[in-house]
Amino acid sequence: MRLIISVAALMVHASNLGADGAFYGDPPDAHHPWSIHDLNRPQPPRAEPGTFSSQAEPGKPPSDAIVLFGGTEADLSKWQPVKNPTEATKWIVQDGALLCVPKSGYIRTKEEFADCQLHIEWSAPAKVVGSSQNRGNSGVFLMGLVEVQVLDNYENPTYADGFAGSVYGVNPPMANALQKPGEWQVYDIIFRRPLFKDGREVDPGALTVFCNGVLLQDHTPLEGGGGHKARSEPHPFPDKGPLQLQDHGNPVRYRNIWYRPLPPRAAEGGTDGLLTVEAATAKKMEIANNIRQDAARLEGKAKMLRLMESLCYEQNETALKDSAAMATTFLADVKQVPAAKIELRKGDVLELNKAVQYLAKYHFIPGDFAAKGELERFIKEQGWDKKR
Ligand code: MG
Repeated sequence: MRLIISVAALMVHASNLGADGAFYGDPPDAHHPWSIHDLNRPQPPRAEPGTFSSQAEPGKPPSDAIVLFGGTEADLSKWQPVKNPTEATKWIVQDGALLCVPKSGYIRTKEEFADCQLHIEWSAPAKVVGSSQNRGNSGVFLMGLVEVQVLDNYENPTYADGFAGSVYGVNPPMANALQKPGEWQVYDIIFRRPLFKDGREVDPGALTVFCNGVLLQDHTPLEGGGGHKARSEPHPFPDKGPLQLQDHGNPVRYRNIWYRPLPPRAAEGGTDGLLTVEAATAKKMEIANNIRQDAARLEGKAKMLRLMESLCYEQNETALKDSAAMATTFLADVKQVPAAKIELRKGDVLELNKAVQYLAKYHFIPGDFAAKGELERFIKEQGWDKKR
């Protein structure tokens, strides 16, 4: 029954008809600007899903992805050498893949970004040459700073924290899920950069990595980002940086490179998750203001309930006064209805009572809120308080 009600309320709210769905779940609190099941909370943006890759051909990115390499010659213009950025990259496009020409140097995207979902596919040379770190070595550097290792570890051991899918120098992958050399390997990476506030680390940043659908890194803390032969100390990262690919002297190929930027975390101004009291208060004021603006274009009962709903987010004197006045007027009007027709108003009265009881329960209205006692008395007189 609950599900039916909430789906119906959602549909009504989509057309913005007022306070349906309000006065329902736990209200906003000091750290959460939204109530539970809050219909004021924005709908998730639509991302049209893409398709999965096969060995024969790359899949299609989701509709909101930003493509960094889609298989064309023209995509090369999105990249530049790390050493001499003004020159064209010496990596080449071959059969729809971005090929590392050994000794041509690292390349980076012109585009800079930070927290992201990154999709990138790579293939080590089918002809096996070398061993350990010298076989099919390249690397995916998030923000140019943290390397997710690319290495042909198919039947090729090496030091664990430099294995394919390691956060290089920080953490080995949980598994070796590689296909044979020459085959395409799919990395799906979720990257969160470290966050510092007033010189203090508030989030160490993290990498989550899947290889061919197998989880390798599960929100691994960055510990400063790691590096070759040396540990690194946690340090602030810039706001954004390029995606960088490594030339380690092996002709590794890449294809189907795209990313989706991720929304900010609570610690950097995002409004989902557990917020500070200050951030939650600011967001609640914004929500209350939006609801009051919505109320201003409504009439009658819908206006009254919407205005009352705003009190859950912010104690606003005017909204409280207006709500009380409207509730009193509403009840006075109902009392004028002839006895023969009073049942027709039962639903409206109980709806108002539900709102008032909810607001009182969570102390969003004072105990002496004028309409509250009157409503309770009236409902009792009518016998509407009795369950049938
Ligand atoms: Mg490498």
